[in-house]
Amino acid sequence: MKLSLARKPTPVEKHMFKGKEIWIKRDDMTDFIASGNKIRKLEYLLGDALEKKSDVVITCGALQSNHARATNYLSKRLGMDVVLYLKDWYPGKDSGNFLLNKLMGAEINIITPEEYEKVDEIMKEKARELEKEGKRAYVIPEGGSNYIGSKGYEDAIFEMSRQVDLEDFDAIYVATSSAGTYAGILSGVKKLNLKIEVRGVVVHKKPTEVVREKIEGILYQLGVEDHSGINLIRGFEGKDYAYPSEEDLKVIKYVASESGVFLDPVYTAKAFRGMLETMGDQERVVFIHTGGTFGLFAQIEALEGII
Ligand SMILES: *Cc1c(COP(=O)(O)O)cnc(C)c1O
Repeated sequence: MKLSLARKPTPVEKHMFKGKEIWIKRDDMTDFIASGNKIRKLEYLLGDALEKKSDVVITCGALQSNHARATNYLSKRLGMDVVLYLKDWYPGKDSGNFLLNKLMGAEINIITPEEYEKVDEIMKEKARELEKEGKRAYVIPEGGSNYIGSKGYEDAIFEMSRQVDLEDFDAIYVATSSAGTYAGILSGVKKLNLKIEVRGVVVHKKPTEVVREKIEGILYQLGVEDHSGINLIRGFEGKDYAYPSEEDLKVIKYVASESGVFLDPVYTAKAFRGMLETMGDQERVVFIHTGGTFGLFAQIEALEGII
């Protein structure tokens, strides 16, 4: 069951940067507190949770996870309790998404990066414990990235195909981490038979093969047998996930000052820079703005260097 939670359709805006037409799909405007890409996945995931009569939602992410913040907000609005497992890591604690999670309230468990390696098992064990107490728990994997969540991004492509002629564009660019967004976009493009490249700029250090396998697994479950065209751009992850480079921070300032669009320091700044630096002779492209605005406020110290 799909819920209707996001404010849709989100606008597709035409902008010019460095002489190129860059059309921005404003999925940073899908909501306020639940804004960003995760709400589209959660329309399916939380629909599934309700269908299964769940009363608790368990999920995980980095300390500043956008996914955890959106899941917390939406699950509560739908009447379910929330348990979060957050990886204790840079950047700063009581700010950004983490601050919002604390204000909204939830059972927040901070775990070490070593424990986080086994977070799927930890969440399953928690679900079993809650079930012994008579509750029904629904576990959502990191980033909401499984085939159920990815359907939200097939829908985003269907939505965009009604707003613009996607075949007039050279490529779609999107930040890629747990890869459910990328998988949904590529699946949507294939299901509509569109001739457009889909490029995912990877924002962490995990091997390309691992990301590719995840995408292929989801494509398979979405009924897409042709796995060609997976195009992952590397070299823009910087030091690692959630560590923006100075160039990334400068891109945030450049885009904000040129257009009033705010990129975030963890995903979209890296993806936007990756796009600008690899688009070559492409003249007109789509950039999916996946949100993350609150993450800016967790990186004030880093940003002080460029403002
Ligand atoms: C989670 C997230 C992404 C990456 O989406 P995946 O489906 O995990 O690849 C990109 N941008 C923002 C702002 C996010 O929060």
